[in-house]
Amino acid sequence: MNVPSDARASRQTGQRPFELSFEFFPPKTDVMEERFWESVHKLAPLHPRFVSVTYGAGGSTRERTLRMVSQVHAETGVDAAAHLTCVGATKAEVDQVVHTYKTAGIKRIVALRGDPPEGVGKPFVQHPGGYANAAELVAGIRAIGDFDISVAAYPEKHPQSPNWDVEIDNLKRKLDAGASRAITQMFFDNSDYFRLLERVAKAGITAPIVPGIQPIHSFRQISGFAAKCGAGVPNWLAARFDGLEDDPETHALVASAVAAEQVLELVDEGVTQFHFLTLNRSNLVLALARLLGVRPD
Ligand code: FAD
Repeated sequence: MNVPSDARASRQTGQRPFELSFEFFPPKTDVMEERFWESVHKLAPLHPRFVSVTYGAGGSTRERTLRMVSQVHAETGVDAAAHLTCVGATKAEVDQVVHTYKTAGIKRIVALRGDPPEGVGKPFVQHPGGYANAAELVAGIRAIGDFDISVAAYPEKHPQSPNWDVEIDNLKRKLDAGASRAITQMFFDNSDYFRLLERVAKAGITAPIVPGIQPIHSFRQISGFAAKCGAGVPNWLAARFDGLEDDPETHALVASAVAAEQVLELVDEGVTQFHFLTLNRSNLVLALARLLGVRPD
């Protein structure tokens, strides 16, 4: 990777120092699948480091995740990463999924503990004979093959971590078990991310902590997601979208301005890797990539 000494200057000259990855979810219906492919085909020419496909709560999308990941890889040539959780399955069942990925030529996995089907508010109960947490899962995946593994990090602390020491110890365990990078939960206040980087550096962690950027296609929807996963929505952000429910054009303009502001502030602080949560839409992400000087070939 060519990391310039001055990321802002390189943004202005349109070089390509930035490494992007894009997260999708497995579509449920034919109409949703059409949108999925339309977005994948628009974003693949940006040469992302990888495109990842999430794993539904409780493993409910096991087959669909596998199918989409395999097809993305086959149809676009882009590296595809499969999200995988420990929920509702024995170690042997999870290992079987990993073996299937290995056989299908999928080399990247985003390894997660997952949440109970009722959501992150409920305590996670280890499945009898299942993996207890993401660190165990990373070790299990490593034992099966030479995968590139990403894990989750939380700029505002995971809601179930009692304090930051436990949080950072857990992140370190996941990376020490064989993950190459962490991708963060969505966050809207960059100072939370910068504080996480400080804590991580203090703990001697050198792996990249890639910011997970959630463009706000719909404030109502995204603030609902944020509440479910414990990400804060600052008052200033809510105020920017206040009253725009019935004004999609202004909502879209504010959304792109908010996302651009967040990303460019990160760039100005030297961030060169971004993971965009696309929600299977391409427009805002394409626009953000352009601001970074990343264009389709
Ligand atoms: P872990 O790292 O295992 O940690 C969870 C909590 O348990 C932390 O509070 C940690 O401190 C604590 N903990 C872990 N081990 C120990 C221990 N030994 N002792 C004490 N405490 C411990 N969910 C899905 O269902 N599907 C997805 O596709 C998906 N993709 C995601 C992608 C990203 C980038 C992120 C950030 C999250 C994603 N999630 C997904 C959500 C994730 O599953 C939840 O946030 C879940 O609550 C925690 O997962 P984890 O991998 O961070 O868990």
